[in-house]
This record gives sequence, C-alpha cells and structure tokens, in this order.
Amino acid sequence: MKLIFLGPPGAGKGTQAKILEERYGIVQISTGDMLRAELKAGTEIGLKAKAVMESGALVSDDIIIAMLGGRIEQPDCAKGFILDGFPRTVPQAQALDVMLAEKKMVLDAVIELKVDDAALVERIAGRFTCAKCGSGYHDTFHRTTVDGVCDKCGSTEFIRRADDNRDTVAARLEAYHAQTAPILPHYAAHGRLHSVDGMADMAEVTRQLIAVLDSLNPA
Ligand code: AMP
Repeated sequence: MKLIFLGPPGAGKGTQAKILEERYGIVQISTGDMLRAELKAGTEIGLKAKAVMESGALVSDDIIIAMLGGRIEQPDCAKGFILDGFPRTVPQAQALDVMLAEKKMVLDAVIELKVDDAALVERIAGRFTCAKCGSGYHDTFHRTTVDGVCDKCGSTEFIRRADDNRDTVAARLEAYHAQTAPILPHYAAHGRLHSVDGMADMAEVTRQLIAVLDSLNPA
C-alpha cells in the first residue's frame, strides 16, 4: 500500500502513520525526520537545512527530492509506505509522479488530515517524543502514564523539536497554505484524494483512516 498523508504541521500525520505502520506492515517515511537525522549526523544536507528548518520555511526541492528518491526503493518499503511531509510543493508532487512511474509504482491513496489552524498552535507547542522509540506525547492532550517515563519503551529521555514553538509554527502554517495546499487539486483530479477529520480524537482519526484504507484493500 503506497500512501501520502497531507495536512498542516500538527495535524497528526506522524502519529497516525506510526499507528498504521504496525497494522499494515508498511513504513512511515518522514522527510522531516530524515532531515533531522542529517542534521544530527552533521552532514552537508543537514547543515544546509538547519537554518531553513528553524525559520519554519521549506527546504529546497532539489535537496528533498534527491533525499527521498532512493528511500522508497529500500527493502523495508516492499509492503508499502506512508509519505509523511512529502510532497510539500507542486514541483515535489510532479517529481514524485515521475519517480513512481519510473519505478512502476502506483499510489493507492492520498489522505488529507483536516485541522483548523487555531488548534494546531496548541497541538504543536506542547508536543514531545521519546528519544529512544519515537513515541509521541503532548503536555496537555497525551501525557505519559507515569510522569517522565515513556509508556511504550520505559525510556526517561524525551525530545522537543527546535521548530515546535509558537513563532515558528506561524511560519510553518503559512508555508503549508501557500506551498503545500495547492497540491491537493492535483491529487483530487486523479480521484485519489480522501479527507479525514483531523479534529477528532486520536482513536477516531485512526478509525476513519482504517475505514478508508480497508475500502481500498478489502481483506
Ligand atoms: P516536519 O517534520 O514534516 O514538520 O518538517 C520539519 C521541517 O523540515 C519543515 O518545516 C521544513 O523546513 C523541512 N521539511 C520537511 N519535509 C520537507 C519537504 N518535503 N519539503 C521542504 N521542506 C521540508
């Protein structure tokens, strides 16, 4: 199953992708995570992307397209993937079409998670993830069961993203509306676009996503 999750930052793309990874045996491919790994490793890509990411703007299409190209061919993608945070511009969507055609791959669905802008700032400003297993939490909406201990793996180390602050969120939302939302009609025209209410609680969003995915691939 080859999917794209579209939606503004904080819509729940990463959280839901992680849940569905296990259920369908597919992998989440997050260009944001890939960039943060490059940054941590101190690579040239990471160094180039750092200031742009911290400002909330988008990294150049060339860097992103080159980085993603090889990723979807790796063995762990054999059963499929969820693209989370890519494509984010019209040129990226066009490059993805070419890439998929070359690799004789077909997208099964593009799913938009719809969330009001006002809710996003609250969601993003309070979020943190487990440094060991990547499980996502939130200061208000999804705390760990035991304070300071990851529910999933027991780690006591957590990370807050440098760009998850109120100032940068505004720039990230602006980039979404100006550069990413314009790709929705591209997928709608091909009849592959589905929308899910990202304002619902996490379990309900998962339920809606499963309903869409199971309607594509009935068991
Ligand atoms: P994310 O983790 O998806 O919220 O991405 C964090 C930041 O990484 C974004 O604000 C951008 O600066 C950069 N980024 C991630 N994916 C892309 C992409 N597909 N195109 C351009 N920039 C990206």
